[in-house]
Amino acid sequence: MFHVASRRALAAAVFSVSLASAAPAAAINLFSVQQDAQVGRQAAQDAERQLPMLRDGTTEGYVNAIVQRLAAVAPGPRFAYRARVVNTSDINAFALPGGYVYVNRGLIESVRNEGELAGVLAHEMAHVAQRHGTSQASKAYGAQIGVGLLGQVLGGRDHRLGIGEQILGNLGLSALFMKFSRNAESEADRVGAQMMARAGYDPMAMASFFDLLASKQRGNPSAVSQFFSDHPSPQNRSASIRAQAAQLGGGRVTQVGGLQTVQARLDQMPAASRRQAMSRTASRLRRR
Ligand SMILES: [Zn+2]
Repeated sequence: MFHVASRRALAAAVFSVSLASAAPAAAINLFSVQQDAQVGRQAAQDAERQLPMLRDGTTEGYVNAIVQRLAAVAPGPRFAYRARVVNTSDINAFALPGGYVYVNRGLIESVRNEGELAGVLAHEMAHVAQRHGTSQASKAYGAQIGVGLLGQVLGGRDHRLGIGEQILGNLGLSALFMKFSRNAESEADRVGAQMMARAGYDPMAMASFFDLLASKQRGNPSAVSQFFSDHPSPQNRSASIRAQAAQLGGGRVTQVGGLQTVQARLDQMPAASRRQAMSRTASRLRRR
């Protein structure tokens, strides 16, 4: 997929990344855009086999209506973004390469307005748009096999397999569930806030979601413990998003509408599972 010259450049880039771990979030990616969609689909199928999925058309329809508004203004490749709802009560969300976004039922039940939900979705979609998942897997692969071997792989010794398949064959699908770097998280906040402003949401709502998390952490720490193990502390993030939102300015805010209806509907359903879905999935995938 890569030309020989750029493969050498990539090998050199991976080498410098392994020397400087504080490199920018999207410094290197050995996957093609098409491979992001392929490996994301594979990981999504695996995840959905193991997670308790809430298959409710009304809830999914509402969440996806927000996703489509944000997708229309997302930077980067035109991924086919779509969201599914996981039937767990803990407040969390995650995304896989290629546009597969997962939001927990507990998060939809907790948000105070559509903007807060849009803020979480925008943050996750920004990870996808900036291709953080495959970028992270690329870095891990470079660190594991070393620069010499990586040069051979990038030099195309094995033409039958794509580089993405080789990397995942080596690291396993769990490489796509790794915790993102702090740089990647700040970038997702920044890009997500921009997407919100462009899509007609107030980016301040993303900051207000982090305030909500901070208050939940004081009142019911177990509901948000997984979120805090996956993401940096919300206090600092809230402050920097507020500063950025003030710069982006307030445009006309519009909504899909219907959050209260969806929340009332979820309230009538049997209780959600309490298990810490994402970490369990990642550790199961890792054992393969
Ligand atoms: Zn994140």
